[in-house]
Amino acid sequence: MPGSGSGERQFNRGKGAGAVNEQLERLLRLQEADLEILSLERKITDIPQEIQILEEDLQQSRGALDSAEKRLEENRESRRLQEGQVEDLRQKLSKYKTQLMEVKSNKEYQAMLHEIENVEKVISEHEDGILEMMMEADELKDELESARSQAQQREEEAGQQRKEKEAFASQADQKIAQLLQRKEDLSQSIASEVLIQYQRIADAHSGVALAEARDQSCQACHVRLRPQVFAEVRTNSEIHRCDSCKRILYYLPPPPEESQAAQ
Ligand SMILES: [Zn+2]
Repeated sequence: MPGSGSGERQFNRGKGAGAVNEQLERLLRLQEADLEILSLERKITDIPQEIQILEEDLQQSRGALDSAEKRLEENRESRRLQEGQVEDLRQKLSKYKTQLMEVKSNKEYQAMLHEIENVEKVISEHEDGILEMMMEADELKDELESARSQAQQREEEAGQQRKEKEAFASQADQKIAQLLQRKEDLSQSIASEVLIQYQRIADAHSGVALAEARDQSCQACHVRLRPQVFAEVRTNSEIHRCDSCKRILYYLPPPPEESQAAQ
């Protein structure tokens, strides 16, 4: 509703403040309670989805941690594999070297020497690979460390946010119970036909059954009021409804100090 300062302004309780004036004021309080209840209920309704989003976010950081762990494990596994292969090749090499001593012909000797060179070359390639994997492992360890601390941080943050949301929900439930009690109290001193009218309009307008009349217009639908209607609404002495949006109109005189402070 336009005019955020409207909550500060009071119904004219001076002369001329009659029964309708009081009814309107109670209706306005009733509407405030209704709107606050609606807003709290909406926030409570949103909480499971917000927690779901937190949970998905956590899954993501847990997934990143898992995959960093997996990559490091894979690196270690393939390094072990290569080390095993090097071990086998070294045994082969030492066998060849022994055989080299026993060969009879030069041709056989050359062939064996060639075989030894080949094995040494493969060993050297494997050792390069192992060295590369060791360097990669250092990077993977850093990545894992950062994924771990990120995941931990997210767990803590999400846990905190979840706690806050749950605390909010329980406070909101208490607040709603208080507001329902206030509604009950207010309703008892509002004429039942007015209350029925209020409820019908509120249901049709997302809980907003009342509209402020200001600057000759309805502040809810901004349709201009007939001068006669506006003059009557200003006294708050009768229940008037906006011709256009059908809301119940009320008038709050601006406090002089506020209009000056606004300058
Ligand atoms: Zn209107």
